[in-house]
Amino acid sequence: MRRNGGEIAKMRRAGQVVAEMHEATRAAAKPGVTTAQLDAVAREVLERRGAKSNFLHYRGFPATICTSPNDMIVHGIPGAYVLAEGDILSIDCGAIVEGYHGDAAFTMGVGDVSPLAARLIEVTEKSLWAGIEHLRAGGRLHEVGRAVQEVAEAAGFSVVREYVGHAIGTAMHEEPQVPNYWPGNPGPALKAGMVFAVEPMVNVGGAATRLLEDGWSVVTADGALSAHFEHTIAVTADGPQVLTVP
Ligand code: MG
Ligand code: MG
Repeated sequence: MRRNGGEIAKMRRAGQVVAEMHEATRAAAKPGVTTAQLDAVAREVLERRGAKSNFLHYRGFPATICTSPNDMIVHGIPGAYVLAEGDILSIDCGAIVEGYHGDAAFTMGVGDVSPLAARLIEVTEKSLWAGIEHLRAGGRLHEVGRAVQEVAEAAGFSVVREYVGHAIGTAMHEEPQVPNYWPGNPGPALKAGMVFAVEPMVNVGGAATRLLEDGWSVVTADGALSAHFEHTIAVTADGPQVLTVP
């Protein structure tokens, strides 16, 4: 699906709300704070900006953001978990403005974290930007995943296979999917007006995942740390335009 300039402008506004949710939750995520409190902080941003949540009630998801600490990869439900010094925390936020969606995630250290945790966060963010570089008209979609995988594996980390990025627009999850690895073929040709959420999930240990009994929380099978970064990006005539930055 290709979006016109007016549609991309609306997605940019949704993306700015998401960026504000990031800023607010990052500032609030300190030792002693619960992930439920972070959910309330994000909800307040949505209300103040007159935006809607695309996560709340999505297939029954019960919250406004996803909060995934330490070995949790994605889709953690905010709740009673109390952040502790040395945790890493992935926060995934989304917003709808005038029917158009934004979706972005980041991982942060809570207080001081181990050198390994800090390196995981740095490498995962770097892998996202390496992927974004390939969102250019005339390119092929799966070059994104190839670049993500190269950065992650060069650092000795692994890339999650079961959960991937996606096209985005008037729904949060549209086709096609955006793998974070080379799936064996170059995939769809990229055209100006296409918009994607690229979201590498990178593990310190193996790539295997496990779904917890709540039906949402995904953790690493080996219990090692995982990080997650995501942006919503439009393919434009002038190159990739990241919509979920301030
Ligand atoms: Mg997301
Ligand atoms: Mg997403």
